[in-house]
Amino acid sequence: PDAHNMIAEARVVLPDGRMAWHLWSHHAIFDDQGMLVEYQCTGRDITERKLAQEEILIAKNQAEQLARIDALTGVENRRSFIETAQAEFIRSRRFNHPMSVLMIDIDQFKHINDTHSHAAGDEVIKFFAMTICCALRKVDHFGRIGGEEFSAILIETSIGQAMDTAERIRRIVECGEVQFGEKTIRITASLGIAEIESGDAGFGDVLARADIAMYQAKKAGRNCIKCI
Ligand code: GH3
Ligand code: MG
Ligand code: MG
Repeated sequence: PDAHNMIAEARVVLPDGRMAWHLWSHHAIFDDQGMLVEYQCTGRDITERKLAQEEILIAKNQAEQLARIDALTGVENRRSFIETAQAEFIRSRRFNHPMSVLMIDIDQFKHINDTHSHAAGDEVIKFFAMTICCALRKVDHFGRIGGEEFSAILIETSIGQAMDTAERIRRIVECGEVQFGEKTIRITASLGIAEIESGDAGFGDVLARADIAMYQAKKAGRNCIKCI
């Protein structure tokens, strides 16, 4: 705003090739008649401070990313998934595009923990998450909602198409095997599906219906899919 008084940071290359940051300030000096006599310029090396700031920024970004990830499986954690899902809900609503939600829960998981150990259960959860990730498209979102409960948002997908995806997931989970030491563990999963409806106030409403559908699948004997 004032060309006579200016402070600027500049990234410079030193004669020896090193990169440095300088803080330059210049200040105009006038004589009694108001004529510009000279500029007083001061340069200061602020490289250390800038590098420290950059490191803090990188660490902050990394911490933010880690806060969105479930430590066991590496997929989005509940909080992050719900945030993403709510944004997708709003987008689907605005463009009047379909969107379906899957709720996926491992069957009789307590039995796996009890028979094979908690560590084996963890391996099963990791296998489960990876298997489902591979069955989804890149545009879909997937997150760990709770212990062995996961949810997926299928973008631009009606309930009929979501049924095909759910069946594919059900089958690959059923066919998969988890190797834990000498043991081979096999699992099944129950799935609930719900689609966005005009009366939904937010993503929570769709997720709640998908959850009800999932419990219907449990009641119907597990290893199956129910829609609402
Ligand atoms: P259902 O078929 O009705 O779903 O039966 P279930 O045994 O799977 O029942 P439920 O879903 O209630 O059981 C979840 C169990 O998952 C209970 C809890 O001890 C276990 N669990 C939760 N988080 C973890 C985890 O991170 N690792 C392991 N190994 N177990 C977990
Ligand atoms: Mg379960
Ligand atoms: Mg459960």
